[in-house]
This record gives sequence, structure tokens and C-alpha cells, in this order.
Amino acid sequence: MSRIETPNRDTVSRRGVAAEELRRHNLAAVLERLHVSGPLSRSELTATTGLNRSTVADLIGELTALGLVEEGPAAATSGPGRPSPLARARPQGAAALAVEVGVDSIAAATVGLGGHVYDQCRLARPRRRLPPQETLREVARLTEPLLAALPADHVLAGVGVAVAGVTRRSDGFVHLAPNLGWRNVPLGVMAAGELGLGAPVLVANDADLGALAEHRRGAGVGVGHLIYVSGETGIGVGIIYDGRPMLGSAGYAGEAGHTLINPDGHRCGCGASGCWEAEAGAAALARLARLPVTVTGLDVVATVLARAEAGDRPTLAAVAEVGRWLGLGIGNLVNVFNPELVVLGGSYHTLFPYLEAAVAEGVRTRAMDAPGDAVRIVSSGLGTDAVLIGAAELVLSEVVADPAGGERGG
Ligand SMILES: [Zn+2]
Repeated sequence: MSRIETPNRDTVSRRGVAAEELRRHNLAAVLERLHVSGPLSRSELTATTGLNRSTVADLIGELTALGLVEEGPAAATSGPGRPSPLARARPQGAAALAVEVGVDSIAAATVGLGGHVYDQCRLARPRRRLPPQETLREVARLTEPLLAALPADHVLAGVGVAVAGVTRRSDGFVHLAPNLGWRNVPLGVMAAGELGLGAPVLVANDADLGALAEHRRGAGVGVGHLIYVSGETGIGVGIIYDGRPMLGSAGYAGEAGHTLINPDGHRCGCGASGCWEAEAGAAALARLARLPVTVTGLDVVATVLARAEAGDRPTLAAVAEVGRWLGLGIGNLVNVFNPELVVLGGSYHTLFPYLEAAVAEGVRTRAMDAPGDAVRIVSSGLGTDAVLIGAAELVLSEVVADPAGGERGG
């Protein structure tokens, strides 16, 4: 008899595991809302997560104990009754060091949970090919004062590094960054050594991170299918598919800058000819706008923008030609992925008012009617900071996905 009434041990442990999984899932759901939406009352959290009130209270208690959430006084309300306190993500509970290794600049930021930017800086660098070790020394110099200025009680959750290259997500190995002149660089391992922070270092392609940032905090919030197209030296493409980053099997997806768009086109930094970025990237812009060879790096877009604003017709024609090639390439992507939204970032964001019409015309030329009619093309909501914000999100997303997990479990 007692045998029958005693639950099977396996059943108990399986139930235990399921309950534990549910609790972790719910913790993540509450922290996710606070991280992305900002401060919310318990009743707002109850409404947006679908969890009941007492569960939300328990989860807030647990997240508070983990140092990830704090509750504070509410803003005055007009309705009757006592205003309920607001729960907010606690920035210093999980802070990320975000680093962007671009061709023309290096940027860094310290960002806390909830998207709170403590500090950020950007260093333009001359257009010469710096080896990875030298670049990382510059990164270390740039980030030292930012880290020193973080609140004393901060927890450094990790370092997110964005790099303009073909990057393996699992270990931050950069196979090829043509515009940096890098090949086969174990950037994740090298950055961990050079920075010596003892925190995990995550490395990802810059455009993938731009897409992530636009999806979470920029022009694409709530959009399921989004493509981020960024102009720097080359063209970077990041794809959000059904609400999630589409990275491919190892993180290499989205290298559309090196797909063929013009068989009779110009030589590309990757060694091939007629790549999309050879027709619509910074080199094409400089060539078409007839800039002197002495104008390089960030000055290319700045000079073109100044001339476009002054109404210089040859410059406007050059920008429109770049826009046309850009639009043709986007039309191809629209046919393949059927996105709701294409977000233009980097230099395309800067030049958007002068590119917009030509891009739309290029897309119309290439995209099939149904997907072409469905897509909107907009400028970045985060501007030149999108990639840096994405690098921070890369780290913070891991904390949000499992608030009680890993090293914070104890
Ligand atoms: Zn190429």
C-alpha cells in the first residue's frame, strides 16, 4: 500500500526539474520586460507577462536578491489609491563593456542592465591596417577610464566586441575582416588576454549586432522580420528572422556585401570583383563623388554630406548612384527574406535623406511585387551607436536569458 502511495522518485525529480525550468523561464520573462521596456509596476508586469500577481511578486523578490532589479517609488498617478511602486532593472547589477572595432574608428561604451549607458567614447583612427594586437592595446587604453568610472558595486557581466568581419560566435575567431586586413585572428582569446578583466568576452559581426540593437531598442522594436544594412567601409548585413537573429550554423550568415551585383564591377577588398560593397560601399562613394585620394576614413562621408547639404549637384548624383546600387542589393534580399522592415545604418543613416529616393527606386527595380510592396525602408533609430548598443545587448541578453544561471547562481 505504502508502495503505491509513494510517488516514484523519477517522477518527483522530473517534476522538480520542470518546476525549476518554469521558474527560470519566468525570471527571464520578468527581467526581459524590465530590461527592454524600462520601469514597470507589478500590475503592468502582471499584464505584460501573463503571470499572476503573487508569482510576479516572488520573481521580483528573487531578482532583487540577485541584485538585478530594484523597486522604487512610483511617479504620481491621477487615479485613486496608493500608486504601486515601480520595478526597474538595476544597471550596476549587470554591466557590459561594449567595444566596436571598425575600420575607421574604435568605440567603447559601458552599459548597464536596462540599457543604461554610463559612458561612451569613439576614437577615429587613420586608414592604415593595424594588426590585431595593436588594435586591442588601443581598445584597452580607451576602455580603462570607462571601467574606472563605473559604480563601485557594479558587476561586470562581460565584454561584447563587434568586429567588421566574418566571425565565429562560439569562440570569437575572426576568419576574415577584409577591410581591417585581418585573417584568422583568435580575437576573443586575444581580447580576453589583453583586457584581463576575468569576464567573458563575446565577439560578433558588427552588422549582426546592429540588427540586434535595432530590434531591441531602435527602429525595429516589435518587428518579426528585419534586415539591417549598414554602410561603413563595406556593407554589413544583419538579419532578424521571426524575432530572432539569423546567424547561420556558426555565425557567418549575412555576408551579403560580398555577393555579386555587377559582373563588370569594381575590385573588392575580398579579392573578388563586382561585389555589392564594391558598388555601394565607401570606396564607390568616394570614387563617384570624385573625392581627392587624401580624403579617407570617416572624412569620406563627412565631406559628401557637407557637399550634399550645400546642394552640390555632382555630389547628389553620386549619392543617388550609390543609393541605386544599394537599392538593387536590398531588392535581392527582399526577394530572399521577405522582411517587413529594412533599417539603414552607419553611413547610409547619415546620408539617408539624399539616398532614400534612389534606394526605393533600386528596390522597385529588383524586388518582386508582393515582397517589394510589403517592405518599409527606414533610417536607423539608433544612428551611429547601433553597433555599440548591440555589442552591449549581446552580453546583457545572456544575463536576461538566465538571471539566476551561471556564475550568478551562488
Ligand atoms: Zn567582396
